[in-house]
Amino acid sequence: MSIDAIIKEFNKYNQSENEANLIRRAFELARTAHEGQKRKGGEPYITHPLSVGLTLAKMRLDAATIAAGLLHDTVEDCGVPLSEIEKKFGTDIAFLVDGVTKVGHIRYRGAEKQIENLRKMFLAMARDIRVVLIKLADRHHNMQTLDALPPDKRRRIALETAEIYAPIAHRLGIGELRGQLEDLAFKHIHPKEYEWVLKNIGEKYQEREDYLKKLIPFLISELNRDGIEPIEIQYRAKHYYSLYKKLLKYDMNFDRIYDLAACRILVPSVEKCYGVLGTIHRLWKPLPGMIKDYIAMPKPNGYKSLHTTVFCVNGKIMEFQIRTPEMHQENEYGIAAHFAYKENTAKPNAEELTWVKQLREWQKESQNPDEVLENLKIDFFKRRIFVLTPRGEVMDLPEESTPVDFAYQVHSELGDQCVGAKVNNKIAPLDYKLKSGDIVEILTQKNKKPSASWLEFVKTSEARKKIKNAVNKKERNISVEPQKKNQPIELKITTQDRVGLLKDITKAVASFKINILNVNMDNKSGAFPIIAVSIVPKDKAQLERLIVKIKQIKGVLEISSKA
Ligand code: MN
Repeated sequence: MSIDAIIKEFNKYNQSENEANLIRRAFELARTAHEGQKRKGGEPYITHPLSVGLTLAKMRLDAATIAAGLLHDTVEDCGVPLSEIEKKFGTDIAFLVDGVTKVGHIRYRGAEKQIENLRKMFLAMARDIRVVLIKLADRHHNMQTLDALPPDKRRRIALETAEIYAPIAHRLGIGELRGQLEDLAFKHIHPKEYEWVLKNIGEKYQEREDYLKKLIPFLISELNRDGIEPIEIQYRAKHYYSLYKKLLKYDMNFDRIYDLAACRILVPSVEKCYGVLGTIHRLWKPLPGMIKDYIAMPKPNGYKSLHTTVFCVNGKIMEFQIRTPEMHQENEYGIAAHFAYKENTAKPNAEELTWVKQLREWQKESQNPDEVLENLKIDFFKRRIFVLTPRGEVMDLPEESTPVDFAYQVHSELGDQCVGAKVNNKIAPLDYKLKSGDIVEILTQKNKKPSASWLEFVKTSEARKKIKNAVNKKERNISVEPQKKNQPIELKITTQDRVGLLKDITKAVASFKINILNVNMDNKSGAFPIIAVSIVPKDKAQLERLIVKIKQIKGVLEISSKA
């Protein structure tokens, strides 16, 4: 494979010499960057970005997306600085490459209940639909070369593909890619079943193919009689994985799979689609309940077609799919198809899943390609972030949520007892603003009570409500009620054990010229000793400044005060 194949594909829908040159320049950088690198299977690394670029060109995507596809591994795998890509190719392409790199860090962790959230996280982190498309093309090639990897890695990647990537392709309406991703994963997830399907399908498929070859000339003449000139009649084998799933439903009986080699009829208009349906039903009796009008009522992912299953010649049961070329293009390439069709007339459907609906919102308004590009940013997740528990469960939270919000989301007890947090394995303050993809671990302490100061930074109403409840129950707190002058105050400081910590705390108190009446250290809880310091501050303002200062001391997790 070479860059010429990509340019040739690109020129089929875009003749701009400038844009073709952009793709060539991206290829040159990728080639230099990957020089000497090999894929696990031994072939030169550049074959991988080339394959990704070709897939994107076949989807008829814009030059920037293809260029980013060619460059997608140069930052992560070759250490090319993102700034260099930005300098040479502009912010748009740099943004795409960066997005692909970030999304690449999402891992399927086998937490089944969380898969839907993982998919959302994927889309939220991608930020731009083109990043998703590049990642799908990337995964498509990686799946084709999966045999070069060790078995445990193969299985994890195959599961990730089947559970995350294929469903996203499906939701975006990219039927062909979804089918291929599933088939490639099927082989590794259920190798025995895959072998079985492969062994048994050959003959059955051949039988259907021979049958259809004889049928098509007759069908064409009958359509002509009704004044219909089909643009194309094609038949193609069902994807293995969807076939396997169907077989499971029908006692593994091939004779009950009527769309094993469905016959596809492409005609120029919607009216003609219904015309074809009439011709077929005039010739052959339809099976009850098997007429599907996905033109009037498209599938939630936008799939449009007429389906009918009839008792065909010699009583053979056969499925026909009738559609226009535009519908066909959309069914195969989904959201990506809209780059090719500048004057698209796609209308959104009412029953779409909400987030797919939002995702597709842009396509109903956008008429010109520039506007389409502008609208490709996935901003419907802008107000949400997706973070992970250490076990890989995904939590869906509002933007700017903190570890305290996260803790309450997991469990109210975890929230109440939270004293600290680790974000991506590093200690982070409780008011840390979490980002999508962060792995959050909450450090707890038994019998710990929430602090009223948390109310200043929590984002979720659940956390707010629970903190308020707990605070109302417990002793009066400085941020709720001002202290009387010259009254002794006890500070309770939850800490991480560290040499010199106590000294740092007393030094901080002394720096305010505040007298310490008493210091107590409760070490019962092990990892999180509580230091109790009795002091007499001048006034509330001074006390608050002292608390801020103590909070900044390394090892101090939480601080509360009472009179
Ligand atoms: Mn890659």
